[in-house]
Amino acid sequence: MPIYEFSCTQCGAVFEELVRDGTKPVCPDCSSGDVRRLLSRFAVHSSSPGLGGTGGSKSCSTCSSSSCATCH
Ligand SMILES: [Zn+2]
Repeated sequence: MPIYEFSCTQCGAVFEELVRDGTKPVCPDCSSGDVRRLLSRFAVHSSSPGLGGTGGSKSCSTCSSSSCATCH
């Protein structure tokens, strides 16, 4: 089971919680269920150069197509 990091939208607390599918944790500070999951501490705070590989929005520099023989 993965441990996810959550941010409370009510009080802004950030906490880690071990979650199962379909369950949502509550804030340990204010007991609010209004929390959102953060991707990861490292992905959020580090400057991610380029975000390459998240897919879909790359375009070829020579033909402006998203899929051509040159860029693929
Ligand atoms: Zn809270």
